[in-house]
Amino acid sequence: MSTYIPPIRVDNPHLPFGDQRNAPWYGKDILTVKQFTRADLEYTFGVAHEMREMVARVGSFDLLKGKILANLFYEPSTRTSSSFTSAMERLGGSVIPINEVRYSSVSKGESLPDTVRTLECYADVIVLRHYEIGSASLAAQVARKPIINAGDGVGEHPTQALLDLLTIVEELGDVDGLTVTMLGDLKYGRTVHSLARLLSLYQVRINYVSPEILCMPNEIIGELKEKGIPQAEYKALEPVLPDTDVLYVTRVQKERFADESVYESVRGAYVITPETLGIAKDHMIVMHPLPRIGEISMEVDTDPRAAYFRQMEYGLYVRMALLAMVLGKA
Ligand code: ASP
Repeated sequence: MSTYIPPIRVDNPHLPFGDQRNAPWYGKDILTVKQFTRADLEYTFGVAHEMREMVARVGSFDLLKGKILANLFYEPSTRTSSSFTSAMERLGGSVIPINEVRYSSVSKGESLPDTVRTLECYADVIVLRHYEIGSASLAAQVARKPIINAGDGVGEHPTQALLDLLTIVEELGDVDGLTVTMLGDLKYGRTVHSLARLLSLYQVRINYVSPEILCMPNEIIGELKEKGIPQAEYKALEPVLPDTDVLYVTRVQKERFADESVYESVRGAYVITPETLGIAKDHMIVMHPLPRIGEISMEVDTDPRAAYFRQMEYGLYVRMALLAMVLGKA
């Protein structure tokens, strides 16, 4: 986002939020969780809370009436794409959905910068998912409108991490003092990259449980070490599960492997069943960014500690909050 464009004033006393020209996130891109401080998180979650109340009370309202979101997805998505669509529509705005880039000019070889320059002529904000690390930053360099990173390859997935953290806050109260165990594909899982960084703003302890070839990248471990976060790596879950407050399970990401036989050697490395949770605390939560491909058995779904479906719903409120924030309405 390079040029400041003043917002149109909407003086509607029925709107829950005023038009705020000085709104702190107005016109900003959301590219990485590194942009967020603890105060920013509290602010975002406060807005998300208001959104939740409004959705419960009226379903949809006209906060972003007249605004258009371009949903530009170069990789598959169910939750991120549809929750951003729902978020925009519940706020009274509309959406240009480009979920199948192969039916757009991308299939003719159009570059990402040119596609972004095109969409910003028609939309006020662009949500971008792309298969390359750094793609959202590249888009933001050329765009005048805010870019929201909805996953850049194996890089980051900041809006997921925000909803993950909101889930932890809503389900367990305080983040300080928690032990978080991340399990599965920590190398390619962009959600755990973003979440680990975000958690480093709190006094947490993090365990990484993964096969040797899927361990958390050194870059992230190094960043958290500098912030004094206690971290430990394991191959097995059992030693750390009894002390875990948040078990964050991830899918082994088949699409990131060049050699399918290597994928086959690690897929199914961990499966959470009701028996697995027998040694877990009564008051803890199991999370997953989804989709799950067998890492959590369906019998776990009825356990009150299974928070992954509730987690999806928090995504709607967080994404409503982010859209309102970058469009200057919160
Ligand atoms: N939905 C998440 C992502 O887009 C996690 C996953 O695909 O496994 O990163």
